[in-house]
Amino acid sequence: MVNWNGDIAKLALPTPFAVGDVNVYVVKGDALTLIDTGVKTKQSKEVLTYGLGELGLKLSDIEQIILTHHHPDHAGALDFFDKEVPVYGHKNNQRWLTISDEFLETHNRFFLDYATKFGVAEELKNNLIHYRDEIKFLSERKLQGFLAEGDELPGLPGWRAIETLGHAQSHISFYRESDGLMIAGDHLLAKISPNPLMEPPLLPGGDRPRPLLQYNASLQKFLGISISTVYSGHGSEVDGDAVADLIQYRFERQHNRAMQVKSMLQDKPLSAFEVCQQLFPKVYLQEVGLTLSETIGQLDYLEDLGEIETETQSGVILYSIA
Ligand SMILES: [Zn+2]
Repeated sequence: MVNWNGDIAKLALPTPFAVGDVNVYVVKGDALTLIDTGVKTKQSKEVLTYGLGELGLKLSDIEQIILTHHHPDHAGALDFFDKEVPVYGHKNNQRWLTISDEFLETHNRFFLDYATKFGVAEELKNNLIHYRDEIKFLSERKLQGFLAEGDELPGLPGWRAIETLGHAQSHISFYRESDGLMIAGDHLLAKISPNPLMEPPLLPGGDRPRPLLQYNASLQKFLGISISTVYSGHGSEVDGDAVADLIQYRFERQHNRAMQVKSMLQDKPLSAFEVCQQLFPKVYLQEVGLTLSETIGQLDYLEDLGEIETETQSGVILYSIA
């Protein structure tokens, strides 16, 4: 049963992904707002419609949509809503919401180029790129307006956007100072540490983002905010009293994992892909994109600490202990 908790209602929608259900939130304000949409599947639409029904609402009652980030389980179902329903989010959502041929090409070139630099096995390189027909879980939309750090959310007085880049280059969270509520998308989850996913540079020819370093800085940000409850994109809420411990725990786990990666470089320099194979011996073949993102995150972290250094040989970056 879906219930209002004050002016917020949480709906868990099914996804075809390993992560399971995604949480979207209906928030009452000057405009009836849906935070995130779920995926674009018939099943998700049924569950969303049913859940809104339990709140006495219809899909068509939603007056605006605000996105935490562009991933298909969060932004995929924009097509369920009339084109007149405005959509807001970080400006970095846009390239993923209307995927131009140009972006698709830039994206694929970036990943093929990096596959070479990271030493990815030839037969796996194509698993890193996207094809037009794969984008079926996404919707074509233009954002009505962009939200950046500190912006008040349109139609929701008292709520502000907090940039929480890392898991995605478009990721923002929403905070209401008056009662300390935080709607955090995939930034802070009770049970899962989100993958710092690799994305192409935001400006053509620019440096690639270092998503794990961004993510850690964004997590640090939450430590400086008085939070009563975190409403997450997957799983249960995180109580405000537990936020600091959970973040500390995430930092320690990640640091230990990085040190495990460093120890792999003891004997000889390795490419990111060779580290990835050791770190994820069972799953790297099925999930090369996810496991490589996670590996590169750890290598970026170690490099940032000065623990390791790089050297390029025949176009492949080799990591060794500094
Ligand atoms: Zn996500």
